[in-house]
Amino acid sequence: MTDFAATKAMFHLPKGVIYLDGNSLGPLPKSAPNRVTKTVQDEWGEMLITGWNKAGWMAQPSNIGDRIARLIGAEKGHVVMGDTLSIKVYQALASALEMRPDRKVILSDNGNFPTDLYMAEGLIGSLGRQHQLKTPAHGDVADHINEDLAVLMLTEVDYRTGQKHNMKALTEKAHAAGALVIWDLAHSAGALPVDLAGCNADFAVGCTYKYLNGGPGAPAFIYVAPRHVANVRPALSGWLGHAAPFAFDLNYAAGSGIERMRVGTPPVLQMAALEEALDIWDMADMADVRAKSIALCDRFIAGVEASCPTLKLASPRDGAQRGSQVSFHFDNGYPAMQALIARGVIGDFRAPDIMRFGFTPLYIDEGDVDAAVAIIADVMGNDLWDTDEYKQRSRVT
Ligand SMILES: *Cc1c(COP(=O)(O)O)cnc(C)c1O
Repeated sequence: MTDFAATKAMFHLPKGVIYLDGNSLGPLPKSAPNRVTKTVQDEWGEMLITGWNKAGWMAQPSNIGDRIARLIGAEKGHVVMGDTLSIKVYQALASALEMRPDRKVILSDNGNFPTDLYMAEGLIGSLGRQHQLKTPAHGDVADHINEDLAVLMLTEVDYRTGQKHNMKALTEKAHAAGALVIWDLAHSAGALPVDLAGCNADFAVGCTYKYLNGGPGAPAFIYVAPRHVANVRPALSGWLGHAAPFAFDLNYAAGSGIERMRVGTPPVLQMAALEEALDIWDMADMADVRAKSIALCDRFIAGVEASCPTLKLASPRDGAQRGSQVSFHFDNGYPAMQALIARGVIGDFRAPDIMRFGFTPLYIDEGDVDAAVAIIADVMGNDLWDTDEYKQRSRVT
């Protein structure tokens, strides 16, 4: 059994704050500041350029990839770190489209995080081959899978509602139609068990600053199935994906395995912080995390519904259909969330009317849920959100 009191003790959680936004940015592992300082002083400071070998910086994107592979059911040696998730979406989609040269349809859904769709539009424009991006509603995706489909590209858990797709069933259906599948695990990695290998996924991508707690700007990851990796052509053919980067050959030759999906210099300081977060993940069993996440979300829904009749549940009621977040519709969701944040309950607002709360068992417990519910009941019951101050929109919501 995972000792969640022990994992909670490993995070810095500011006093007076109940942090329900780990789905956007995980909190600071207490050990990260020392580790980053050590990396700066002892490695960068003392080793200078020799740190790439001596401190193992160059091997870290694959080593960390293996640690993340455990959390997403990927085969060892098939996940590598680098860049941001938007870039990894582009990379995976570019490679996948090339593997289906006679097909023109990319299928996603209208609840996907916009950057995934924007990156697809940008790539379609650059390719100039009249690819078509289709974005039906969440529940209609399966009906659009047919023999025209090149690539099914979905985010497993909807960032607004928390609704989950059935990864295994959709992957099977797409494969039966001859298409490839890319799964975006932004709201899955560290939120629920994922079985990429068992689902036969072709590609997967995700970020590490949300549920994985790697810190703002932590690198993304990309997975390519073992059966494809030797044939995938990297569209972003950077020198660190080359078979022999230090041969400085003028011609590009892709590296042998997943390392071909590397592009340029990896973010060494960010990876140091991420490793500290992954040390905490080593204490956790994903099945335990999932069971507790569902229990916390159920408790939160029951508490809010009992005390706040104006909030309408936007997430699936059935825990098995949800990720690790709970969202409510409320017309004045923006000022309401500002009022909660001012009282120490940090969630976030997603346009047009979604108040979103993430539940992360590594550092949130039942006491936090109950305390948050009491504050939400006070804010909603007494219209404490209804002030000019809370209606001023900031750049990041
Ligand atoms: C958070 C998120 C992103 C963010 O992409 P970045 O390039 O890391 O800013 C992309 N896609 C999805 C589905 C997300 O949830």
